[in-house]
Amino acid sequence: MRFADATTPLWTCPHCGHRFVTSNSWHSCSKHKLEDHFKDKPARVRKLFDAWSDFVLQFGEVTVIPQKTRISFQVRVRFAGAVIRKNWVECAFWLKRQVKDERFHRVEKITARDYIYYFRLTDESQLDKTMKEYLREAYQVGCQVKRV
Ligand SMILES: [Zn+2]
Repeated sequence: MRFADATTPLWTCPHCGHRFVTSNSWHSCSKHKLEDHFKDKPARVRKLFDAWSDFVLQFGEVTVIPQKTRISFQVRVRFAGAVIRKNWVECAFWLKRQVKDERFHRVEKITARDYIYYFRLTDESQLDKTMKEYLREAYQVGCQVKRV
């Protein structure tokens, strides 16, 4: 198998229209609405999600994909996400390196060079300059730009 890079055309699922780097990628085809994630949730949580969404979308063209349990953000690959909780938004993003920062309550090590960082967004002030640098990097991961 050849590894996909930023030049490989994306495959579009003929059923749901979602785009993927590798053809016939496993995914659930069902279409979900963004609104479904906010049923029975306080308006405040929607505001927090909108702040996160604007934050993730500030670097370029990003597709927002509402899934069953989470909302994903994709350029070529999905590089960030959100899970809507009762009183906060569980935010996640993918970096190609390890960072030590106590604001992340969970770090998932996928490979030696792939880490998913999780934090609970309860206030817009958490989306600060440092977070912006992380997200700028995560966006590059989403574009599949190789770091040298
Ligand atoms: Zn599909």
